[in-house]
Amino acid sequence: MIKPALLLAFGGAALAGGGFAAEPPARALPPAPNAAWVKRLFDSWRAPVPPRRLVGNIHYVGASGVSAFLITTPDGHILLDTGFEDTVPIIQRGVEQLGFSVADIKVILSSHAHIDHVGGHALMKKLTGAQIVASAADARTLESGGAADYIQWPKDTILYAPVKVDRIVADAERVALGGTTLVARLTPGHTRGATTWTMDVTDGAATRRVVFFSSASINDGTRLLDNPLYLEFVQDFEATFAKLRALPCDIFFAPHGGQFAMAQKFARLERGETENPFIDPDGWKKLVASAETAFRDRLAAERAGAK
Ligand code: ZN
Repeated sequence: MIKPALLLAFGGAALAGGGFAAEPPARALPPAPNAAWVKRLFDSWRAPVPPRRLVGNIHYVGASGVSAFLITTPDGHILLDTGFEDTVPIIQRGVEQLGFSVADIKVILSSHAHIDHVGGHALMKKLTGAQIVASAADARTLESGGAADYIQWPKDTILYAPVKVDRIVADAERVALGGTTLVARLTPGHTRGATTWTMDVTDGAATRRVVFFSSASINDGTRLLDNPLYLEFVQDFEATFAKLRALPCDIFFAPHGGQFAMAQKFARLERGETENPFIDPDGWKKLVASAETAFRDRLAAERAGAK
């Protein structure tokens, strides 16, 4: 969930110090952010945005900076991500404004078990009685309220209401409801159970392959090599990038709007462009490539620093 801003701040501090340190600062581990910085970041994501249909039966019901997707079916709905606990009302209002009922949400999925995407799971389960579906590794984190996460951020910024997971999904396992089928693609790294979801959607006469990206960035403060909290870190990321590169994709969405150019694509949707602006296979390739480059740069820097 995190970001270049912090890397910049880190590099900036080194520059502001003047002169050159004996060890190039870029080789040092970007530190975990402090609580005030995380709070500012999270607060910047909480504004309401109008809900809207994106393509076929997929709708956006999230906040300005944290996504939530409603996938509607005749037998009830699937909700992918719930944002923070205090952004759940934005989802509730969005679902109702689109003409659907929150009570009809039957399944709750997640991109990954961080507070900004699953902080609302417990409340949403209470409101709907929906089944919580997650990968085994993210289920452990969800049931611990974030305490089982390897992330080294201040605890008071990452903990959320724990929630019981009703169904565990393995890689390539299907979640089906009312004629819609989502496939779980385990893409561990950002969290140990990070899950990318795929589905086909009918768009007029066409069938589009949709990818809901889980995220594949490195949380600042994380050591990549020989991390005692996550020994498989590098091999998991390697496998995840190989899997993401191979996924067929016409349309992609992501846990943060900035990751899929949401504001720009919403603006194009509002202008009534005839081709759906979310059809963006090149954008998907670029997103995966830039995440992989960031990973490889960090890995190289850490290896160089370890010598
Ligand atoms: Zn995250």
